[in-house]
Amino acid sequence: MKSYSHSTNPLQGVFNTLGQSGTNNFDNGAIIVKGNGSDLSNKDVLKGRAKRKLITQKTVLSLIDVVEKNGNDERKKSYWNTYHCQNKVYTVDGKLFAKYCKNRFCTLCCSIRKAELINKYFPLIHQWQEPYFVTLTIKAYPLHFVKKAMEKILKCFSLIVAKHKKRHQRGNGINLIGIRALESNFNPKTLTYNPHLHLIVANKEMADIIIAEWQERFTIKYVSHKGQKAEPVYNKEKALIEIIKYGSKIFTEPDVNKKQKSKGKEQIYVAALDNIFKAMKGLRIFERFGFNLPKEPKQERPNARVVKQFDEWKYDPKMFDWINSKNDKRLTDYKPESQLINLLETRINTTLE
Ligand SMILES: [Zn+2]
Repeated sequence: MKSYSHSTNPLQGVFNTLGQSGTNNFDNGAIIVKGNGSDLSNKDVLKGRAKRKLITQKTVLSLIDVVEKNGNDERKKSYWNTYHCQNKVYTVDGKLFAKYCKNRFCTLCCSIRKAELINKYFPLIHQWQEPYFVTLTIKAYPLHFVKKAMEKILKCFSLIVAKHKKRHQRGNGINLIGIRALESNFNPKTLTYNPHLHLIVANKEMADIIIAEWQERFTIKYVSHKGQKAEPVYNKEKALIEIIKYGSKIFTEPDVNKKQKSKGKEQIYVAALDNIFKAMKGLRIFERFGFNLPKEPKQERPNARVVKQFDEWKYDPKMFDWINSKNDKRLTDYKPESQLINLLETRINTTLE
């Protein structure tokens, strides 16, 4: 399995600039860093960070416009936090340290969360003999019903799991084992949202049970047969990455190279995105069921340390990069593709929802 060491635990990368807090010992500009930091040696990883920073900042500015219209101060504050996420980073001995906003809609923080989840779940899923990838859908709904639909989906799913757990305990049936992720897309043509679940379960029998129960509980009025899917997982790591993408990534990353067909037509529907974030608030997007994770051995976390030799880099949106405060060097040398710039400049839609 690949190592995802380029992404650190967000909690481990926190720094404080004590020089700014006015405490006397640090007015020489020393900083405190915690954790291991992120590795700086892979340039592509660094460029990926710069790309996510660009996408996040542009999209979040539009989200702020959207919430300003409906006057939601709490979300506005969160969006601003994400705008500022990692605006200033420090490098010490080939490692990068930064402060993270940890919001769901931050693609920078989500990629870290993703790497953590992959490292946590892959060893287990790897042991499953014949895992299945399952998609559970219900019909699409207009905005006012999205939150309710999401709650209903999660409730129904946990009832299915609980029922079979009980049966299993009584000795007649199997325990359902897997992970699940909640996702919702927006359809700009019909102005509807389609909250749905993606699962990886341990075998085909579980996949069949879940789909049969799903259809029975929601009835034909709310679900269609062809909307429910079960397919064997051929590449366990890929399947996990796929599901975790749904679980923790909210932006549809406008990767213009991937969608050759709709090239030049994609839009980012930020009002709809804001609605999805709002609806998902308080809900568990990603969860395991039917099993526990083995207790992790306590990891040695390096203590916070005071550092005097470091480089400070500030993000400059015009340069699409972090610039060294002393010598104006660029941190990543990232240059965005013109299609991406075009998408972010001209095709963010703030009205459709
Ligand atoms: Zn962040």
